[in-house]
Amino acid sequence: MAMGWDDAQHPVARSVSSHSDAADLRQAARWAHADGMRTAAWGFVGTVLLAPALLAGAKDGRLDIYWIDSQGGGSTLVVTPGGESILIDAGNPGGRDSGRIHALATTVAGLSRIDHLITTHLHVDHYGGAPELAALMPIGTVHDNGIPAEDPDGNHDPTWPARIKGYREMKVEAREVVRPGTRLALKSAKDDQPKFTVRFVAARGEYGLATLGVANIVACQDPHPRPIDTSDNANSVVTLVEFGAFRFFDGGDVTWNVEAGLVCPVTQVGPVDVFQVNHHGLDASNNPMLLRSLAPRVAVFNNGPTKGCAPAVALALRGLPEPPVVYQVHRNKNDAGANTEAEKIANPDPEGGRYLALSVAPDARSYVVTVPATGHRFTYPVRGQP
Ligand SMILES: [Zn+2]
Ligand SMILES: [Zn+2]
Repeated sequence: MAMGWDDAQHPVARSVSSHSDAADLRQAARWAHADGMRTAAWGFVGTVLLAPALLAGAKDGRLDIYWIDSQGGGSTLVVTPGGESILIDAGNPGGRDSGRIHALATTVAGLSRIDHLITTHLHVDHYGGAPELAALMPIGTVHDNGIPAEDPDGNHDPTWPARIKGYREMKVEAREVVRPGTRLALKSAKDDQPKFTVRFVAARGEYGLATLGVANIVACQDPHPRPIDTSDNANSVVTLVEFGAFRFFDGGDVTWNVEAGLVCPVTQVGPVDVFQVNHHGLDASNNPMLLRSLAPRVAVFNNGPTKGCAPAVALALRGLPEPPVVYQVHRNKNDAGANTEAEKIANPDPEGGRYLALSVAPDARSYVVTVPATGHRFTYPVRGQP
């Protein structure tokens, strides 16, 4: 099984940390931070004093992705090679998740603002922390499916207007409704760097890329559709982040039948390097048709201690022709057999607060995944274009 190489043995991996002094400093801060995390009782204690002097304003040409712990919510932060920030979902309300996002953004990623917030869908574990975050740091443009007058799950919930009020009224610089097939307007990477793009593959059950655009006869032979999902999960914004040949897929909580449409009748995305497992790893999502097509090398569960990382999904990933290396934000308390190796789990304890990090080299030829809480780090080669 192709799993990548250890840093000490591989020339590409060594080059990751030797391309510039600034990057070395930033990387050193990360590892120092990882050391601190082993003894910190709660996620960010210790980082506040350690990181800012090294990281603030750093534009090192790397693509960084952080999975922040929102206890089974969505909260993935992307820092582009051009130094812009994209938060995909903002966790739950209540102060905990917005505080964790703000702390990581400012002290680890060196950010003073969120340039783009992508809200994949209007479930509270994805939009709930956004109004609080907007009070903690400026948010540029919000990208979502628009805010419907009635609850998007179709339940005619009379509390919907009150539930969405904070999100509707939060102070942001602009709002845009996602159109499938379009891309975010971003600063490019440096002139000598590979191309960087963030594209919306799907939204509201509509598709927009079809990069391969050919009939997918093999994948369409074995569909097992489920009853139509009338929840807002099916409307999830599906985002593809590409840096050179590196590809990262974040599908929010997109569910089974819409996942099938990403593959059949035509392939919308094709193979990726890194897959944020859909819907926290619940088995209402993660249709094997899609898993086979994405064929990820690394899979990340943004699960909670008792939510997501379902045994059926873990098994489906392990059953792929080349099983991905799996990372988890939380240890699954209920189903020990679904868990990956302990060193690849950010939070062994339900209280959580610790994150996972991924950093793509400026030449987009390799990326490092780190688990600061356990000291794990591993360098993977970027796979070729599909
Ligand atoms: Zn969710
Ligand atoms: Zn959802």
